[in-house]
Amino acid sequence: LSVNQYLRDHIRTVPDWPAPGVQFRDITPLLQDAKVFRVLIDAFVHRYMDPSMRPDVVAGLDARGFILGAVVAYELNIGFVPIRKKGKLPFTTVEETYELEYGSATVELHTDAVKAGDRVLLIDDLIATGGTMMAGKKLLERLGAHVMEGAAIVDLPELGGSARLKESGLALFTLLDFA
Ligand code: IMP
Repeated sequence: LSVNQYLRDHIRTVPDWPAPGVQFRDITPLLQDAKVFRVLIDAFVHRYMDPSMRPDVVAGLDARGFILGAVVAYELNIGFVPIRKKGKLPFTTVEETYELEYGSATVELHTDAVKAGDRVLLIDDLIATGGTMMAGKKLLERLGAHVMEGAAIVDLPELGGSARLKESGLALFTLLDFA
């Protein structure tokens, strides 16, 4: 059994949530089981502990990217910074608004979260349209950082997000796809 298949077996698909017709890929079972959680985190840590792949800092996307990103950063012995939904960060921020299927969303990052030239690993649980990760990349780049890679557990390639992110020049690392 491959690591990827083992992880896939622990993702729960919830039909018609949060809206009719959506197949929500729920990653909470991966976190709940100690052994699966370790296999999951190690899949990222093994990649980024290589000296040539080692980031200076991990940026996590609100909210499941916080869970993964903070643990990966801790294991790599580097810092973690949160990219949050608007209105949650107390200090001065940069912000980026992006379009959703219905309406728009805004994310923020503290202006001192990264330094110009930092190599940043950007983490979330899942890439759908890619809008969230693209907004995070723009925020980090606005502060002069270099996003060395975007990482997620799940890619939904049929929504075109991962292709768009790659076209924008972002390298991606995902553990599994759902068609
Ligand atoms: P995107 O911006 O369209 O790529 O959507 C990705 C964001 O929405 C991530 O922050 C995900 O956590 C969340 N998301 C969208 N669909 C799912 C899903 O099926 N499972 C878990 N998270 C999802």
